[in-house]
Amino acid sequence: MKLIVIGAALVSLTVKCALAGAPGSRFNPYRSTTAENGVSRRRRQCTEGVDYGPGIGQPPDECEVEAPSGGGGGGGGGGGGGDSSSSTPASDSSHAAAMLNQVGVTDVAVAQADIDAGKFTGDTGTGGIGEDIYGPFEAGFSSQQDFIFTGLGCSDPSVAYIDGGIDTSTAEKIVASACDVTLPRFDDDGEYISLLDQCGGHTKEYHNHEKLVCLYDVEAEGHSSRVGTALDDKGIYGKWEATDVLPELDACGGHWGRTPDSPDVDVYHYHVQDAPPFTVGCFGPNDDDSLVTVQQCRDFYTGCDGDLETFTTPDGEIEYDLWCPCFDANGSNSGIDIAELAVFDNNDDDGDDDGDDNGDDDGSGLPSSGAATIGTASATVVAVVATLLF
Ligand SMILES: [Zn+2]
Ligand SMILES: [Zn+2]
Repeated sequence: MKLIVIGAALVSLTVKCALAGAPGSRFNPYRSTTAENGVSRRRRQCTEGVDYGPGIGQPPDECEVEAPSGGGGGGGGGGGGGDSSSSTPASDSSHAAAMLNQVGVTDVAVAQADIDAGKFTGDTGTGGIGEDIYGPFEAGFSSQQDFIFTGLGCSDPSVAYIDGGIDTSTAEKIVASACDVTLPRFDDDGEYISLLDQCGGHTKEYHNHEKLVCLYDVEAEGHSSRVGTALDDKGIYGKWEATDVLPELDACGGHWGRTPDSPDVDVYHYHVQDAPPFTVGCFGPNDDDSLVTVQQCRDFYTGCDGDLETFTTPDGEIEYDLWCPCFDANGSNSGIDIAELAVFDNNDDDGDDDGDDNGDDDGSGLPSSGAATIGTASATVVAVVATLLF
């Protein structure tokens, strides 16, 4: 089956210091990696040229140049960035994730059944352990992507050109609206038509943005299994906190709680979400271990500058802050009238009467350490609340 997916020029790297815990290092955007035997290796690196670049297509196959001096080991702590173009803002905060690059890597391989079913569009040999997980953004679409828009059903591709710094879900909605097509969709002959494949990734240099449903059993009971590791070494899990219960997450996309890998101690971990930032919006928690609010997330990123663009989607007009991966409870990243995330509702409905509902009983807003019974009680309450909310 032939699948059509958009291939914006997103390339990645593996910098040792980044994987060792310094999130979001600076790098050349044309360095890319490949996963072989579970090890992500640098495969190709190019400098930006006239024929390719952010938002204008993949580096050509013959693109293979020497790494710039110091490019591999330096830059620790320089979050954000990830692109030399002036339109991609860099952020200095250690909590800031890359704009157009890795925020993590996969811990499991794409299920063979999903490959057999045609849900995965990466090249043969990709989709293994160590494959890239990117943040929510694309580099933008221009005339270089005309062939892709045509494949999506756009009779006039020029109406679909959009800026970089828009998440894949919103970008797809903008394209759908501009071209008056439905995305994603299955064509009459069964082809899946979307910016991403059914696993949630795309491009020749395959990377994941959304869903990650080919990496875990969405139907499984309990807390979803682990699908990846963020660049801060924290786990990224499937979407479920418990059977049919979604977690309440902070603006980074994480929360404190038990996981299949940490059944006795609360740990901060990320979950895949259907809405942006999809995986890692920022590297949480805060330095004092508290959960990250939308405003705190915004403060991590220079891209969250309040310069708003208005986009038309099938759901109507939205205001959008380019290169800002901090989304509120209504799914807006505009920073205007922020609807704080449910995890901060302070309803104190976890039964301990301490003024918050995080499962501890000290009113600190921080998770308890190693209090198994309280943590279990909290998880139950979260489950009830989540059931009501979702
Ligand atoms: Zn992408
Ligand atoms: Zn969880």
